[in-house]
Amino acid sequence: MTLLNWIPQRTFSTLCLWAFASLFSVELIAQPTTPSDAAQAIEVDIPSMGTILSVKFYSTDPLAATKAIDECRRLAGEVERILTDYDPDSETSQLTNSALEKFQKTSPTLWSVLKASDDWNRLSNGAFDASLGRLTRLWRTQRRTKRPTPIESLNNALKDSGWQHVLLNDADQSVQIKRPLQFDFGAIGKGFLVDRIYEHLVQTGLPRCLVNMSGNMRCGQPPPQRDGWRIEIAPLEKGQPPLRRLLLKDRAIATSGDLWQFYTIDGKRFSHILDPRTGVGIPGPIAATILSKTAADADACATAVCVLGPGEGGQLVERLPNTEAWILEHRQPDVPVLMVHAVGPATQDSQN
Ligand code: AMP
Ligand code: MG
Repeated sequence: MTLLNWIPQRTFSTLCLWAFASLFSVELIAQPTTPSDAAQAIEVDIPSMGTILSVKFYSTDPLAATKAIDECRRLAGEVERILTDYDPDSETSQLTNSALEKFQKTSPTLWSVLKASDDWNRLSNGAFDASLGRLTRLWRTQRRTKRPTPIESLNNALKDSGWQHVLLNDADQSVQIKRPLQFDFGAIGKGFLVDRIYEHLVQTGLPRCLVNMSGNMRCGQPPPQRDGWRIEIAPLEKGQPPLRRLLLKDRAIATSGDLWQFYTIDGKRFSHILDPRTGVGIPGPIAATILSKTAADADACATAVCVLGPGEGGQLVERLPNTEAWILEHRQPDVPVLMVHAVGPATQDSQN
C-alpha cells in the first residue's frame, strides 16, 4: 500500500538539507506554510540513491495524490537503476565495456544525463567531469584505508578518465568512449531525479510542490495563500539568525560542499569533489549554494563552482542566465575566517 501522509494543516515541517562540520553549520530549511483552502499538504519520503527523496505537494484529490506518489516511487527506482555506478550491471556501469571504441545506444534517461553532463563539462571548462569514476573509486578506497593512493594507480586512473574521451552521437542517442573509463553521475544524478519528479507532479496537475534530495531542491508554485516556499540557509553558528531566508517559487537550489566528505592524510585535506586535472580531491573547505532554473543545473553548477573556487566559479555563475551563488570558503585552511561571496542578481530575502 502506498504510504500517503495527510499531514495536519498547521504542521511545521523542517527539512534539514545539509550542514557543515562541527565548526559551523549551514542548513537549508523549507517551511511549507499554512494553507487555508481545502488543499492538503502531502509529504512522502522515498529512499533512493543512498539518500532520501522527499516529495511534498498540495492536493485536493487523495486518489490523484496516491497515484502521483506511486509514480514518484517508480521513477525514483528507474532512474537509480539506470544511473548507479554501485551496481556493475546498471546501464551506466555497462558502458565501460559496451561503449568502448563503438557507439552504444542509450536509454532516454541515460542520454539526457549524458547530454547534461556534456553541457556542464563545456560550460565549466572541464571542472565538472562525470567520467571520473575510476578516480572517485580510488578516493573511496583511500578514505577507507587512510593510505595514500600509489602514484601509479593514480596515473592509470587519470589516463582512463576525462570527458575528451567521450563521444556523443545525437542522431541515434548513442555514446562511445575512447578509454575504458567509468561514469560517475554523483554530481548531477540527484538534481536530475528531482527535476523528473517535479515535472511529473506538474504534468499531473500538482504544481504546488517542493522536491528535495540531500539539498538538491526544486520548488514549484507556492503553498496555498502563500507567495513562495520559505527556504533558509541556516546560520554558521547555532543560535544565530539564518544566513539567508529566501522565498522561492519555480526555482531550484542546490548546495555542494566538502565540509563533511573529506579525509586527511599527513595533514593534507582531500575532498570528495575531485579536481579533474590532478585526479585528487580539492583541498577545500568550500561550499557553494546555487540558485538556478532546474535542479540538475543547480547540482552540476554547485560541484563545478567548488572545483573552480570563488574567483573562476563566480565568473561562471555571472555568465549563466537565471543563476545566483553563495560561495563559502576559508581564506586560509588554518585560519577559521569564513568568506561569503554572493554572485548574481541577489534574490530578495524573505521578510516572513
Ligand atoms: P556533489 O555532492 O553534487 O558535489 O557531487 C559530488 C560527487 O560527484 C562526488 O562524490 C563524486 O562522486 C562526483 N564528483 C567528484 N568530483 C567531480 C567533478 N569534478 N565533476 C563531476 N563529478 C564529480
Ligand atoms: Mg552537484
